[in-house]
Amino acid sequence: MSDGVKDQLSKTDSKLPNLAGLGRDRLRALFTEFGEKPFHADQVLKWVHQRGITDLDSMTDISKSLREKLKTKTQITLPVVVDGFLSEDGTRKWIVEVASGSRVEMVFIPEAARGTLCISSQAGCSLDCSFCATGKQGFNSDLTVAEIVGQLWWAVKELGGFSGELERPISNVVMMGMGEPLLNFEPVMEAVNLMMEDCAYGLSKRKVTVSTSGVVPAIDRMKEFTEASLAISLHAPNDELRSQIMPINKKYNIAMLLESVRGYMASLPDKRVPVIEYTMIAGVNDHRQHARELAELLKTFPCKINIIPFNPFSLSDYRRPSGSSVTNFRQILQREGYTVTVRTTRGDDIGAACGQLVGEVADQTKRSQRHKAKAESNRKIFDRADNLAVTADRL
Ligand code: SAH
Ligand code: SF4
Repeated sequence: MSDGVKDQLSKTDSKLPNLAGLGRDRLRALFTEFGEKPFHADQVLKWVHQRGITDLDSMTDISKSLREKLKTKTQITLPVVVDGFLSEDGTRKWIVEVASGSRVEMVFIPEAARGTLCISSQAGCSLDCSFCATGKQGFNSDLTVAEIVGQLWWAVKELGGFSGELERPISNVVMMGMGEPLLNFEPVMEAVNLMMEDCAYGLSKRKVTVSTSGVVPAIDRMKEFTEASLAISLHAPNDELRSQIMPINKKYNIAMLLESVRGYMASLPDKRVPVIEYTMIAGVNDHRQHARELAELLKTFPCKINIIPFNPFSLSDYRRPSGSSVTNFRQILQREGYTVTVRTTRGDDIGAACGQLVGEVADQTKRSQRHKAKAESNRKIFDRADNLAVTADRL
């Protein structure tokens, strides 16, 4: 990336509206406020999100006078990718720097029939689930709409999707990176809607998924804002165990959570079921009895179950369950009629597997160190040939 592009992308004037972070309705309202026709909103959305153009002068179907006006009254600012890694299995991880100075991570998982991008919603997380590397860092900041949708923008760009090199490299987006999406509610709603917007990325609403640990009042509100799909991090079949590993359960218990999810699913215009995520941790929640209890708990709750074998990280003593206990667990649920998938671990050689995302959450007392580190990683931006060597350094 040239310095010119980088300068432009990292330009921030928080007072000016950021065209890259506004949904269609907000953009239309902005043009109306400027005394212009609202259809310009669709033009801008297409330039930025379908062609990857952030330079107003290149937006040739917009009159010169309007472009000049937009230059003084608005900005187009996206977060900056400062590093990238390529796993042996083809998974990619990018480090994205956001305005707060923190770095968050996003992960692209290519598969035969689809490409999934896992996006972050916050730098850090305040919810402190006992099995999660992000939770161990605490909370630093919420991402803005442009910082959330900007992760998709960058991934499409890096994968050659804007230049037409590769057609639609990303078919699915999951909000399963760093942070709790529903604790950054409005920006996440606006961003997922932009991903599904025809004039922007046009992703199917079945293929954009918000994953939550169970912020019940926010799930209740979701129906007024979006039709995105929902995944629930359940991880335990009863309140006692869930409260031990997920402190949020003390506030919103399993019954409240399932009721709220039922309400959201009922609000959707099409028939869809939520995904229940179950991170299996050896000796904690992986016993056959837990599987039977889970089957009983969900028997009147339409859903699919996704088992995620725990991914170890240095600050945790938890262990990954054995292959046979994962198989037993899955079979018990399948015998009860559930559709169960086991998430294969992808990208763990580059710290990109579920729950391993840590980024670099800014510590306000270490600003100078951060700036030094930033200069360092800006220098080695994205030399693909070096990726694996960089990976090895990190391990
Ligand atoms: N905060 C949201 C989304 C981010 S976490 C949520 O909790 O749903 C994305 C998924 O990764 C969640 O299901 C989470 O429980 C799971 N996860 C977290 N740490 C993990 C780990 N170490 N191993 C496996 N899965 C993990
Ligand atoms: Fe936060 Fe989700 Fe990690 Fe829990 S699992 S600490 S909610 S990011």
